[in-house]
Amino acid sequence: MLRIGCHLPSSKGYLEMGKHAVALGATTFAFFTRNPRGGKAKPIQKEDVAAFLAYAAEHDLQHLVAHAPYTMNLCSADPSIRQFGKDMLADDLQRMEYTPNQYYNFHPGSHVKQGAEVGIAQIAETLNEVLFPEQTTTVLLETMAGKGSEIGRSFEELKAIYDEVDRKERLRVCFDTCHVNDAGYDIANHYDEVFAEFDRVIGLEQIAVFHVNDSLNPLGAHKDRHANIGKGTIGYDTLHRLVHDETFANVPKILETPWLCEEGSAKKTIPPYKEEIEWLLK
Ligand code: FE
Ligand code: FE
Ligand code: ZN
Repeated sequence: MLRIGCHLPSSKGYLEMGKHAVALGATTFAFFTRNPRGGKAKPIQKEDVAAFLAYAAEHDLQHLVAHAPYTMNLCSADPSIRQFGKDMLADDLQRMEYTPNQYYNFHPGSHVKQGAEVGIAQIAETLNEVLFPEQTTTVLLETMAGKGSEIGRSFEELKAIYDEVDRKERLRVCFDTCHVNDAGYDIANHYDEVFAEFDRVIGLEQIAVFHVNDSLNPLGAHKDRHANIGKGTIGYDTLHRLVHDETFANVPKILETPWLCEEGSAKKTIPPYKEEIEWLLK
């Protein structure tokens, strides 16, 4: 079934996210496990989770895609930052078990001046230390734009992480269209070739989630600035094609497009998701 949703604010808890998703016409959704800048997560409210799970079943909402905070850098040159990231990852994976069998996606990290090889080894080492046998959550490596020293700018870099992780059955990929464009893969003009390339390097079946975003920047800019659907370099046709691609019929699609300025107000912004979901479903 074609499932599409968006990234939602999580501060009011799970049930509120579920209701919000349904109100937007979403059948799946994403959220930050804690403040995206890092810090301590709010304790899980068991009643809230139970109410959410009942609500989700009733409204056919499926696939939570939790997003790790941006401050989680598993390949920082600073060991204390690596440890901070590892602790957050371990804590998040424990919390995810309250909602079993869902997804947890993270940005692999920025190696700063250590080089990609060292970065990849550090990321894999931490995954090997933290992923645990009873875990039901699948952890997703996100494809990255290659801003600064980001790991994940090429399919090969993600593959290199896979190669060193023991629990490969708990590791898959979150394919972000904006990031892939900014990394230099021309999905707008060479859609088939880009996915053939992904298939050759990692395997299409490893794509667990799509982040469906347009990009404000040209191909290969290594920038990572999301644009609203049809307002960027990728364009509506390619994103629409992806959403309806039979190959990915069962892969949830999540929008992370920017909020829009409300008319007559420079400050207040409103989410574009209801309209963008409707438009992509056409
Ligand atoms: Fe992300
Ligand atoms: Fe993303
Ligand atoms: Zn991004």
